Amino acid sequence: MKRLYVVIPCYNEEEVLPETAKRLKVKMQALIQGGAITPDSRVLFVDDGSKDGTWGLIQRFHGEDPLFGGLKLSHNQGHQNALLAGLLYAKDHCDAAISMDADLQDDIEAIDAFLREYEKGADVVYGVRSKRETDTFFKRTTALGFYRIMGLLGVEMIPNHADYRLMSQRALEGLAQYREVNLFLRGVVPLIGYPSAQVYYERHERFAGQSKYPLKKMLAFAVDGITSFSIKPIRLITALGFLIFLVSLVVLLYTLCTKLFGYTVDGWATILGSIWMIGGIQLLCLGVIGEYIGKIYRETKARPRFLLECVLDEDTPSSSTMQ
Ligand code: UDP
Ligand code: MG
Repeated sequence: MKRLYVVIPCYNEEEVLPETAKRLKVKMQALIQGGAITPDSRVLFVDDGSKDGTWGLIQRFHGEDPLFGGLKLSHNQGHQNALLAGLLYAKDHCDAAISMDADLQDDIEAIDAFLREYEKGADVVYGVRSKRETDTFFKRTTALGFYRIMGLLGVEMIPNHADYRLMSQRALEGLAQYREVNLFLRGVVPLIGYPSAQVYYERHERFAGQSKYPLKKMLAFAVDGITSFSIKPIRLITALGFLIFLVSLVVLLYTLCTKLFGYTVDGWATILGSIWMIGGIQLLCLGVIGEYIGKIYRETKARPRFLLECVLDEDTPSSSTMQ
């Protein structure tokens, strides 16, 4: 039997939280009675600096039943950071943690399947949406475009997986070693490695309240995801510089020929040739400088260089994580 933490970031969710708590309580009790999880398992709400009565509700749930716990962030730090706060807290208290949204969009019935995969040996179980019919056309196409772009930029991501997932204690220890400030969980978790599995579930409509991800936040999220994982945009600059430099050679040849045949006004060839050439050289130099900035960016992230999955040695217990 394992101790499970369900971590739920909440930002202004007073409308939906009572229903979420009610349903989760039923689910957790069933799991405890069925022997799937220990009786001291928890539902941990993380209040991400809400301005409404969310924290008051969490306090009330905690007072009524020790099944519910709460963390309160001092300020609104965004979904990813709130989730991280919950997961890092859970790391020291549980055998496995499941992260899910507060709005009941993630089907809580999938938890059984998560736990089964975990028992079979998966350290990370991804909840993957079987269809996207409950989303608007706009959200569906933009999401698809986003996964495509990320794929092209070489960032490994599980398509149609949001932040509904189970992570074992060992995977959480691994996550804790990614100390970058701009944390993009969906990109980082696949990097942690270890055996993983996927569970398909149907995503529902938001039960109550408004989405906390307006277009502006969604765009910022996408840009954050790209820029915290890929230096390919810098490489594009170098490639463009090289291309323009090549074009400039052709332009130079063309202007020289035209000048030789005497069809030009004075100074035309020099100006045209140098505009292209200098433009190309400048872009190329920017790309070179960018390469070094890319290196600095990687160094400053100070990501773990490896995580051990298994050790076969007489003196060391197996399955330890080390940096
Ligand atoms: N959330 C958060 N901080 C924020 C924005 C959102 O903790 O600044 C939480 C929110 O309470 C919810 C989850 O992140 O539990 C996902 O947000 P939402 O359901 O609004 O996003 P959507 O499903 O519309 O993409
Ligand atoms: Mg939602």
